[in-house]
Amino acid sequence: MLGLMQDRPLLISQIIDFAAAYYSDVEIVSRSIEGPIHRYGYRDAHKRSKQLAEALQGLGIKLGDRVGTIAWNTYRHFECYFGISGIGAVLHTINPRLAPEHVAYIANHAEDQIILVDVNLLPIVEGVWDKLTTVKHVVVMTDRAHMPASSKIPNLLCYEELIADKPGTLRWPDFDEKTASSLCYTSGTTGNPKGVLYSHRSTLIHTMMSSNGAVIPMDPDTTVLPVVPMFHANAWGLVYAAPIAGAKLVFPGAKLDGASVYELLDKEQVTLSAGVPTVWLALLDYCAQNKLKMSSVKRTLIGGSAVPISMIARFWNEHGVEVIQGWGMTEMSPLGTTTRFNRGERQLPDAERFAITAKQGRPVFGCEMKIVDDAGNDLPMDGSVSGNMVVRGPWIVKGYMKGDGKSQFGKDDWFATGDVCKIEKDGSVVITDRSKDVIKSGGEWISSIDLENAAMGCPGVAEAAVIGVAHPKWDERPLLIVHPRPGANVTKEQVLEFLQGKIAKWWMPDDVQFVEAIPHGATGKILKTKLREQFKDYKLPTA
Ligand code: ADP
Repeated sequence: MLGLMQDRPLLISQIIDFAAAYYSDVEIVSRSIEGPIHRYGYRDAHKRSKQLAEALQGLGIKLGDRVGTIAWNTYRHFECYFGISGIGAVLHTINPRLAPEHVAYIANHAEDQIILVDVNLLPIVEGVWDKLTTVKHVVVMTDRAHMPASSKIPNLLCYEELIADKPGTLRWPDFDEKTASSLCYTSGTTGNPKGVLYSHRSTLIHTMMSSNGAVIPMDPDTTVLPVVPMFHANAWGLVYAAPIAGAKLVFPGAKLDGASVYELLDKEQVTLSAGVPTVWLALLDYCAQNKLKMSSVKRTLIGGSAVPISMIARFWNEHGVEVIQGWGMTEMSPLGTTTRFNRGERQLPDAERFAITAKQGRPVFGCEMKIVDDAGNDLPMDGSVSGNMVVRGPWIVKGYMKGDGKSQFGKDDWFATGDVCKIEKDGSVVITDRSKDVIKSGGEWISSIDLENAAMGCPGVAEAAVIGVAHPKWDERPLLIVHPRPGANVTKEQVLEFLQGKIAKWWMPDDVQFVEAIPHGATGKILKTKLREQFKDYKLPTA
């Protein structure tokens, strides 16, 4: 017997309609690409999203067409999120930090019809223009006064001109909630990037869950600053979740350095921020050097890479900010787990609370997870063993665009994340490593993440990375690579001494190498592939 409730489709347009109706004057504040701060309310954003939708229809965009964006977090990119998906076209967010050949590859693979691009990122499109096979129009997201004087791209369109004479009165169409809404390619650190194609349904379910107080606490008293880019897994869903929670949004534009982020946090009295660890490292250092405090911030959501316990402690001790760690991936919309304190745990002493936050968190309702061995057999979830993490749920990928990467999709919808982890009795997930980064020493596994986190606490260490290096007896042994703080004279002996007692004895790195910079990929993660390449001729002193 079927239930007798309505099947109204879940559509992204409903998010902006809701915010415009009930939070019409709640602000969206942006550091614009042109420079000045721009501010308006959800009502204005709603109208301009519709004007954009009308303009795109005028350019021939129909249900299912892909429209690319190459843009920072600003109000115009926000309008693209709703104007493009609202008419059933697919918002394809392209990461401007990708290598040019990857930008061309994904725009062609996605068959983008139009690309909307920030004026300062236009050189990226110009650089690959000759390779783009499907793009018919390029729209520069600025006004006439800031349009480039010349370009190799013919007939560049100006965003403000394009929407200026549109009425903004369109009625969003109804269509199947399983219609594709947006598209985001994985970083492609190994092989070509793969396209993750979200649907209206998956996005709405993820949004309703993530804006729930137990996951990312948000309400009309919240001011949220997503430093995590809108091209990185939809800014972790915050661009959709903030409007339904009635939260004020603050967009940092192209300036993500410590000073610029601090200025916005302070002036706009931000209460919740979100981003990857590298961004926060810069901000914490900037605050320490200039004796500044983040006075309004209550919480910060950090994910994308493991959060070192030293960072959790600094946020709390120096700024009174509680860290929420999140784990997930582009393929998971992206939320899988977040720090969630059980009853009584908030009252624990600092060190015990920090230890809970240093784990990747507990599962978000709706995302099922388990660990399996290499043959696919279930492993115990009592914290005793690590295994391959597989997940399933209504916002988890079921196949990549055009059938790429088939091997990651298993029986009964279980998707292989490529992460190795432990799952404890209370559901806490502890990521050991990416399966390709784990160090296999004498048949046992060493977690590069644990070693990095421990080393990051050592005075004088700005950033640390660990890779496995070939060893005749043990197969692989860990090499610790350290980027020292400016002016610090930290030595190998000091670092190893610091690690004593903090890690298992046999995990102790066989050597420490110092470098001027640790390479990062397009989403801010340490690029282990590049480090392995850099150290390919290196021989361990113990080998
Ligand atoms: P991106 O999100 O950078 O586009 P991916 O989606 O491939 O790229 O990144 C997801 C991966 O990032 C996860 O599979 C995991 O390895 C890593 N990751 C994300 N969050 C965390 C975290 N909190 N701790 C450890 N690793 C994390």
